[in-house]
Amino acid sequence: MTVRPKKNLGQHFLTDKNIAKDIVALLKATNVGKVLEIGPGMGMLTNYLLENTGYETSVIEIDHESVDYLHIHFPQLKERIIEGDFLRMDLAAQISDTPFALIGNLPYNISSQIFFKVLENKELIPEIVCMLQKEVAKRIASGPGSKVYGILSVFLQAWYNIEYLIDVPPHVFDPPPKVQSAVIRLTANGRTDLGCNEKLFFKVVKQAFNQRRKMLRNSIKGFSPRIEELDAVLLTRRPEQLSVEEFIDLTNNIERLMLLPT
Ligand code: SAM
Repeated sequence: MTVRPKKNLGQHFLTDKNIAKDIVALLKATNVGKVLEIGPGMGMLTNYLLENTGYETSVIEIDHESVDYLHIHFPQLKERIIEGDFLRMDLAAQISDTPFALIGNLPYNISSQIFFKVLENKELIPEIVCMLQKEVAKRIASGPGSKVYGILSVFLQAWYNIEYLIDVPPHVFDPPPKVQSAVIRLTANGRTDLGCNEKLFFKVVKQAFNQRRKMLRNSIKGFSPRIEELDAVLLTRRPEQLSVEEFIDLTNNIERLMLLPT
């Protein structure tokens, strides 16, 4: 029995055992010992997670056919095979209330949503090793000055160190995806507090990148009628030129203006 690949679930099964082994070997999980795999499919990565790593491994899979397959081939996992949608899980209540590492060959169609979910649960997730579409991997790992640096790069880099590690070609999947793939690792950078109003930081970064070609003067003016009181050079910059630290400073400065009488 094999699982029939379903396009709508982003099912491209990895067929190269060496790559699977390499991906699992990238996981450090040293401090936590607990791992959650997203989308195990037929268990290509799961196999190596269970082989001598010593990690307490759980898997979450949305596809019923894959879940049946996993129960047959990995009976030792038992109730640690969770059938469900990762995006809809209450991770602390339904998975673990203590930190765990995430691993997965992600369903590419929802990879950004998976990262937003990670950000909502960052205290629980100190490490992520995952395969995803190369273009998205590059974007997440790129720094200021790069054309592909964007919202997700800033949000994730605020909390994680990001390493771009392996390029993976389409022919090692069944069926092969139309895009190139890559493996990245995110490791918590130890920050527990951004040093600014976090909600406002999210809004400022989003607002700035929604009009990424515009100078900040134009993209963020909605936050305060006194925006011209900010540093004149800063106001001429574009969002892709700002580091995480500069976005934090900008957020603090905007908040200061917001508190002043208009
Ligand atoms: N890990 C397997 C491998 O490497 O061969 C399968 C990877 S495949 C790219 C992505 C897997 O994620 C599929 O098995 C798919 O059913 C599962 N999946 C898709 N959406 C999901 C979701 N929202 N929650 C959990 N699993 C999901």
